[in-house]
Amino acid sequence: MNTPKKIAILGAGESGIGAAILARQQGFDIWVSDGGIIKDSNKKQLEELAISYEQGQHDFDKILSADLIIKSPGIPAKAEIIKKIVQAGIEIISEIEFASRYCKGTIVAITGSNGKTTTSMLTHAILENGGLKSALCGNVGKSFALAVAEGVAEYFVVEVSSFQLDDINSFKPHIAILTNITPDHLDRYNYSLEEYANSKFAIGRYQDASDYFIWNIDDEYSQKFIANHDIKAQKLEISLNEKDLNGAWIDENKKIQITIKNQEQMSISDLALQGKHNTYNSMASGLASKLLGIRKEGIRESLAGFDSIEHRLEPTVQVYGMQFINDSKATNVNSTWYALESMQTPTIWIAGGVDKGNDYSQLFSLVDEKVKAIICLGLDNSKLHQEFDGRVELVVDAADMDEAVRMAYKIGERGDTVLLSPACASFDLFDNYEHRGREFKEAVRRL
Ligand code: ADP
Repeated sequence: MNTPKKIAILGAGESGIGAAILARQQGFDIWVSDGGIIKDSNKKQLEELAISYEQGQHDFDKILSADLIIKSPGIPAKAEIIKKIVQAGIEIISEIEFASRYCKGTIVAITGSNGKTTTSMLTHAILENGGLKSALCGNVGKSFALAVAEGVAEYFVVEVSSFQLDDINSFKPHIAILTNITPDHLDRYNYSLEEYANSKFAIGRYQDASDYFIWNIDDEYSQKFIANHDIKAQKLEISLNEKDLNGAWIDENKKIQITIKNQEQMSISDLALQGKHNTYNSMASGLASKLLGIRKEGIRESLAGFDSIEHRLEPTVQVYGMQFINDSKATNVNSTWYALESMQTPTIWIAGGVDKGNDYSQLFSLVDEKVKAIICLGLDNSKLHQEFDGRVELVVDAADMDEAVRMAYKIGERGDTVLLSPACASFDLFDNYEHRGREFKEAVRRL
């Protein structure tokens, strides 16, 4: 018997454990190393598989004795251990690259700065309702590697972050969707938008002419950087502005048209998810599903009947005629732009948190038109005050979520909307965006 190839897996989070399970199934000799503390449930899984591991350190010699390294997306290329691996010339890949090598099904991969989860969930729902065996995986649901190891699905809808795409060398989705590109995570890309965009476009790098690349031609930075990439897949475009595209577009009756060369055209008029951004997401997922042969009635029904997704423009309850909306996942200015854009009534906007170098000027005209008060919910609200004091009649600070919601309720009137859409990360006051969103909903319930 050949000695199994040695794999070192760096990071024992969700994707590392998935990779370990798949690698074990494929007969590799595996060692897991996590510089931090491994969650108990993950440790248990490793122990059950008799996979040895270390935590709180990296045993460089042991790692450097591997033939292949699978790296968690959380570890930056600048980390010392990564530099050493590169110096030693050992192949280093991400978990999605590893999983794709063993994936026998059809891959639909979705990346972008905003809208990945929504588009992935929509696509998966349409495929599943259409009777296909689909797995929702990657950054949403289970890891791609685990979905492959389970061996049940025939279609893999994979949400991929740019960090996962940084370490691929053959990952080839049949359908790639690039939702949009807006500045985010630039700290990992030497503060270069171009580098960040390059990493997103990598989703199409290994595609060929039998594959499809769906992209948003209204998106400034996708438009700006696409010329730098040699995309061999058939390009399909989505737009709210241009008409008669090979892709998805809006006709004069405001219906979405899906037109794919050599296929019958279809139209969609009813979307469950509101807002322009969700029209883009629905277009991309409808298009991908049409390419995979889902019938038009099925696509229409799934897009019309889709439930809202938690923390993403999620309508919660109405209290005395005021609608409360939880958009806690809006951690950058662009996603908040779309939230404000979709507001239909005077809005009390709860914003703030950890500012990632936000340029709020993009929001000025929407704020002028729609926002009657801003409640700042962060440890340091100085930037929000600097940008909006004098622009909006009322800009006030809240110490915690309870106070923010109570203030909103006090300021608001029947018919107003209270929107939590922070445009910032949550780590100053909350564990993560989910925690922030849950606190919001609980505070609303207590009113
Ligand atoms: P991601 O997985 O890329 O973070 P989500 O679907 O979780 O994207 O949405 C994140 C935030 O961005 C939410 O506030 C959501 O309302 C908003 N959003 C969703 N789709 C888009 C889009 N296509 N363009 C801009 N913002 C979007």
